[in-house]
Amino acid sequence: MTKIDRKIDTSPGVSDEVKSTTCYMCACRCGIKVHLKDGAIRYIEGNSDHPVNRGVLCAKGSAGIMQHYSPARLRKPLKRVGPRGEAAFEEIEWEEALGIATDWLGRIRDSDPRKLAFFTGRDQSQALTGWWASQFGTPNYAAHGGFCSVNMAAAGLYTIGGSFWEFGEPDWERTRYLMMFGVAEDHDSNPIKLGLSKVKASGAKFVSVNPVQTGYSAIADEWVGITPGTDGLLVLSLVHELLRAGRVDVDYLLRYTNAPWLVIDDPDGPEDGLFARDEEGRPLVWDRHEEAPRSTEDAEAKASLKGDVTLPDGRRARPVFQLLAERYLDKQYAPGAVAEACGLSADTIRRLAAELAHAAFEEEVVVEVPWTDWAGRHHERMIGRPVSMHAMRGISAHSNGFHTCRAIHLLQILLGSIDSPGGFRYKPPFPRTIPPAVRPAGKSDQVMPGAPLPGPPLGFPTGPEDLLVDDDGTPLRIDKAFSWDAPLSVHGLMHLVITNAWKGDPYPVDVLFMYMANMAWNSAMNTSGTIDMLTDKDPGTGEYRIPRIIYSDAYYSEMVAYADLVLPDTTYLERWDCISLLDRPICSAEGPADAIRQPVVKPDRDVRPFQEVLLDLGARLGLPAMVKEDGSPRYPGGYADYIVNHERQPGVGSLAGWRGEAGDLRGRGAPNPEQLERYKENGCFWREELAPELHYFKHANRAYLIYATERGFISQATNITLRLYSEVLQRFRLAARGHGAVQPPGEHRERVETYFDPLPIWYPPFEDQANDEESFPLHAVTQRPMAMYHSWGSQNAWLRQIHGDNRLYIPRAVAEAHDLHDDDWAWLESRNGRIKAQVRVQQGLNPKTLWTWNAIGKRAGAWHLSADASEAKTGFLLNHLIDELLPERESGYRYACADPVTGQAAWYDLRVRIEKAAPAEAGEALPQFPSLPPLPGSQETPEALRYGADFHEKTGDGRDGKRRRR
Ligand code: SF4
Repeated sequence: MTKIDRKIDTSPGVSDEVKSTTCYMCACRCGIKVHLKDGAIRYIEGNSDHPVNRGVLCAKGSAGIMQHYSPARLRKPLKRVGPRGEAAFEEIEWEEALGIATDWLGRIRDSDPRKLAFFTGRDQSQALTGWWASQFGTPNYAAHGGFCSVNMAAAGLYTIGGSFWEFGEPDWERTRYLMMFGVAEDHDSNPIKLGLSKVKASGAKFVSVNPVQTGYSAIADEWVGITPGTDGLLVLSLVHELLRAGRVDVDYLLRYTNAPWLVIDDPDGPEDGLFARDEEGRPLVWDRHEEAPRSTEDAEAKASLKGDVTLPDGRRARPVFQLLAERYLDKQYAPGAVAEACGLSADTIRRLAAELAHAAFEEEVVVEVPWTDWAGRHHERMIGRPVSMHAMRGISAHSNGFHTCRAIHLLQILLGSIDSPGGFRYKPPFPRTIPPAVRPAGKSDQVMPGAPLPGPPLGFPTGPEDLLVDDDGTPLRIDKAFSWDAPLSVHGLMHLVITNAWKGDPYPVDVLFMYMANMAWNSAMNTSGTIDMLTDKDPGTGEYRIPRIIYSDAYYSEMVAYADLVLPDTTYLERWDCISLLDRPICSAEGPADAIRQPVVKPDRDVRPFQEVLLDLGARLGLPAMVKEDGSPRYPGGYADYIVNHERQPGVGSLAGWRGEAGDLRGRGAPNPEQLERYKENGCFWREELAPELHYFKHANRAYLIYATERGFISQATNITLRLYSEVLQRFRLAARGHGAVQPPGEHRERVETYFDPLPIWYPPFEDQANDEESFPLHAVTQRPMAMYHSWGSQNAWLRQIHGDNRLYIPRAVAEAHDLHDDDWAWLESRNGRIKAQVRVQQGLNPKTLWTWNAIGKRAGAWHLSADASEAKTGFLLNHLIDELLPERESGYRYACADPVTGQAAWYDLRVRIEKAAPAEAGEALPQFPSLPPLPGSQETPEALRYGADFHEKTGDGRDGKRRRR
């Protein structure tokens, strides 16, 4: 036998240096460790200490290397030298680029700051970008939430003071029944996978409600293949069943919700539907023992949940719960009445309701930790209703999404499962006051030449007086956010900016400034129409209708071709960033957390981090908070300087960890010059663990409320009463009835009256109403794939191998009716357009629904893709079929294709018909667009993009270990 004495290194070192930072390959913000060798990135692994991902790394996160070395990276500032849309640019120096931008922006700031529309995409620095807009003085700012998930955020913040994803999570360990609505591989990614593994291991039941059985639905214990846009109807039917069976948590409702609050019943009066209040403005309940009103702050009151009472002043009033029960016990919500519309059987709905009730009340969870509630009542233990829910885009992206999401929270509240063991749990800094105490700035007297706004451009209206409209009701923002079109548009309406700027409705803008928002392609509803608007000229002047477009991106996205000035950003591995509690936090239910990104490598191109460019522009423009008294930049050290030294209020800055001069304070404290060093030493994150008595009932837990006040999360330690009934919505309704100082113009009144119902309602999505069932019998939706985060992935050499193109998935019955088989070509048509795509037949699919992966289709040439790239030739977008506006009304006015309360883009309302393409039409998706040319100075597209093939240790054959990439 030959003896082998050669030693084999089974675990060779791949790196000589490891740096921690935070992933940006999707929105989850997992902790990562980047392995470097000779200063080059070799390998990315998950950070096992990190609170978000505990070491788990997904396909996207691992492929960050290819994102970083993508040939599509922009390399230098660009100035347009040809017609807009043809990508004819010349490279310029940064000084010239910043000079042009300062000139364009300076002129409008000195005359009319509204002429700047500043909108960002999947920007993770909104605390900075929103503040910058406010300092500039324009109300026209928002990020992409208006077309992503504002229905979820707004419905949650106006109902429970929190929401899903960044604001709350299921109690993964203790839940016995998890119900997920409309969740594909989106918000949240790794944390949901980790959570689901716990749910599966514990034997709890996981039910996924989704028209499409992919991703999480594929591993659910039960898949409920609902018809798109009917989730709210299903949920209200579940509520009907629970009420009918008396299976609600009465004690929870009395203690923590507004179920017993008295609502004035005076149909024609100005106070109808508002809460009855005492002289000090405190809402009242009806004490069933004393038969008299008592303040909601009186914890001794024996509040009644039902009845119809007469108050001492003669007004009549009824408790919220009475109104709620009357509404949802109506037979229109009975399972038999809703089943067909939902695409489910009545028996399934009844069984789901029974299972929810069983889990909540028969599988009660007890945590043996004493706690004290807001009223000083001591509780020996924490008793939980272990039913949890999570919902996301599939609910949010419908024109009835706000009310559907409110309905989901209502269901959770009735079961007593909000922040109780096993239920939905708030993540600090939530819960917050309902709604949060920030109002949008931008009223006529708040926008002035050369001056900042007095507050942030985005906020939470509490009534008509908080809207941004002029005296005749005309919107004051370019996207018509906070107007009668969409009063609670708390994330703005990015999907309307280009349309409105092109139309000059309500006024023209001068500069459209965008960051990371691919509005000329997959982020546009009506992509072809948007491209036309970006390039349209006024025949009278020969000038573009949108005069100047500044765009910043790290990559050659489709939007780059439509910019007049391009400011190239770095990749996420080349810059400082902060994931701040002031922004979109990464906390868990058991403690607040924040994080940073640090530059892992230096840029090898002439690019600058966008955040640093913004601060530089701010200083050049002399924005007050960005310059010192002598006019010099306040943050000469760039974004890192800002992260450490900027204070939003005394002691509260971007990062909560290691504050104070000695670095020993948390939450509040003076800036610490060593703060970033401390973060780096700790793996680039900070986390604080809550004491066990603070873990649950945060909305009513005295110790937690005091803690949250000390940390600056809320302004005072008073309980946060959950809002089954929304008085805010009723205030808008009263305005529509002609009450109050601020009222909607006549044509908006019926719409406001209808959709500002203080209790959740369901109505068919607007596109269902705009299209007749016969012409467009099918629904079409998209799902986000696990391996792609919107458009970024299609330039990524590794991820392209997973999703190089997409198919239109169709249910078997539709396939048979149209003689379609796998890989056949078909025409898909909506009221807005027609596309051609290749189909695949799927079994696990709602019978009226077609779908495809989101944002795989690309324009040739963009992203440095070749003219024959599969993403461009066989990949396709549904966006061409979607209209950003609803059909014209009699008055000629067109509302957005959006939720009427929040303005959330209703992507998933799309109605279509399908037809088999002729054999001669096979082979190429339509529409096709001319291939974009390479940008000046761009590197040659390699035949094959490989990474790591040319890494060599220094070897005896003279190779020197230099990294070469093909
Ligand atoms: S889920 Fe994946 S892509 Fe998203 S942040 Fe985490 S590792 Fe990165």
